[in-house]
Amino acid sequence: MIKVAIVGAAGRMGQALVRASRAAEGVALVSAVEIPANPWVGRDAGLAAGIGDIGVRIGADTRAALMAADVAIDFTFHTAAPGNAALCAELGKALVLGTTGLDAAESARVREVAAHVPVVWASNYSLGMNLLFSLVQQAAKALGPDYDIEIVEAHHHFKKDAPSGTALSLAKAAAAGRQQELDRVAVYGRHGITGERPRGEIGIHAIRGGDVVGDHTVLFAAAGERVELTHRASGREAFAPGAVLAARWVTGRAPGLYDMQDVLGLK
Ligand code: NAD
Repeated sequence: MIKVAIVGAAGRMGQALVRASRAAEGVALVSAVEIPANPWVGRDAGLAAGIGDIGVRIGADTRAALMAADVAIDFTFHTAAPGNAALCAELGKALVLGTTGLDAAESARVREVAAHVPVVWASNYSLGMNLLFSLVQQAAKALGPDYDIEIVEAHHHFKKDAPSGTALSLAKAAAAGRQQELDRVAVYGRHGITGERPRGEIGIHAIRGGDVVGDHTVLFAAAGERVELTHRASGREAFAPGAVLAARWVTGRAPGLYDMQDVLGLK
């Protein structure tokens, strides 16, 4: 039985992860942790997740929570994730990281951790989206630079980073398909007198509103036709079981940085 700690357990994803880890075989949820100010600290993680008492109290001591576990699942905030990851390295615990919006320095700290413990780090843990990453790369390669690529994503109004980590992964997949470096061709939103669209550009756009769980469309547009590849998540069940699967997969692996394509055997 693999012992799991959920970091950010009272958050939107944290609650879905509590439900998914209780439903999964071969996995035991042993600890749940939150920031001290969270009103759920001291209360049962199952109650926060809407499944009733499960006998796992949400604590505010990340070190103690990780010590009890084999693997941590972190869906928190970009400023918190590197410190949590460093604690995993110090304690020799595997990590499944779902948090997005990390800047270059924060990302480098996570990569450093992966030299010491196994880490799965994915911008999206859903099976459908991981299939879409492959399809987008394939489409970009097949259609070539005459097809303009635009990526549009929509999320709920609580989301704190933009564009979504998933939109960036889709953009990277599209750029890889055309053998481009994303940093050289990406344009984030447009405003004002932008001039004509240069060939080879990849446009990335974020919409925020209501309770949208996550919509992503990759548009390939050329003279006379367009192809649109769309994924819509209608619930956080799209992501949470994948993250729990990743926790089972990564425990006991060699140190290194893995992604969901590794977990699903899509590479
Ligand atoms: P949320 O704000 O609802 O939840 C985050 C929780 O983490 C909060 O309860 C917060 O108190 C807690 N937290 C923050 N810092 C912490 C720390 N140091 N220790 C313990 N707990 C801490 O946000 P959410 O919608 O659940 O999303 C969380 C993250 O997961 C975001 O970065 C989001 O983009 C990402 N996300 C990733 C995927 C994926 O498949 N990779 C899917 C959905 C969301």
